[in-house]
Amino acid sequence: MRALIVSDIHSNIEAFRAVVADAEARGGFDEIWSLGDLVGYGPEPSECVELLRAHSHNAVVGNHDLAAVGKLSLERFNPYAAAANRWTAARLTREQADYIGGLPLTLELDEFTLAHGSPRNPIWEYLVTVDAAIACFTHIDTYWCLVGHSHTPFMCIPQGTTGAAFLAFPPDRLVQLDSRPLIVNPGSVGQPRDGDARASYVIYDDSAGTIVHHRVAYDIAATQEKMRRHGLPDYLIERLAVGM
Ligand code: ZN
Repeated sequence: MRALIVSDIHSNIEAFRAVVADAEARGGFDEIWSLGDLVGYGPEPSECVELLRAHSHNAVVGNHDLAAVGKLSLERFNPYAAAANRWTAARLTREQADYIGGLPLTLELDEFTLAHGSPRNPIWEYLVTVDAAIACFTHIDTYWCLVGHSHTPFMCIPQGTTGAAFLAFPPDRLVQLDSRPLIVNPGSVGQPRDGDARASYVIYDDSAGTIVHHRVAYDIAATQEKMRRHGLPDYLIERLAVGM
């Protein structure tokens, strides 16, 4: 079984389609695992929901998803995110909103725990500190954990008995999984923030026991044009070009 692992698609169908096509060209996949924030920020929320649902998939819910279906207050969203989220809420069909609202906060698949932010706080925690990483290792019952939310690809391993080390996750290098704990963030499909504007994703191959990170270019200008047409905030449009 090969899983296409994606996170933070954020209504960017151009990026999502490019990821699916690239993964298909690199040997294909059997299912998609989505780590949340399918919608919010970008111009095509409904299309992203439908592309995910066109494939066999497993998905957890993110903070933008919950806000877009009225299950999370926009109080903690910055003004740009809140404006885009209100726009998103009005675009989703009732049926799509019900689907999103029914997604779980965490999932265990194979030896992975999936959460948007972190296993202990799936909605809000950014798993970017040693403290959060240690809490994650003690929190999960599986060997490995998959998170999104920070829009930055990385791997994290325990260090000694009380530490954790964040490692770069360079594209195209096969990583062999073993029984040692590991946290993986596949980066963001629709709004990367690590200085690389290309869409980011991971392929997990369960028979080989490997994961690999890939980047793929997509038509950023097309997404930006659609966002402009819908009057989405300039800040959100411009950041796509720089991947920050
Ligand atoms: Zn996000």
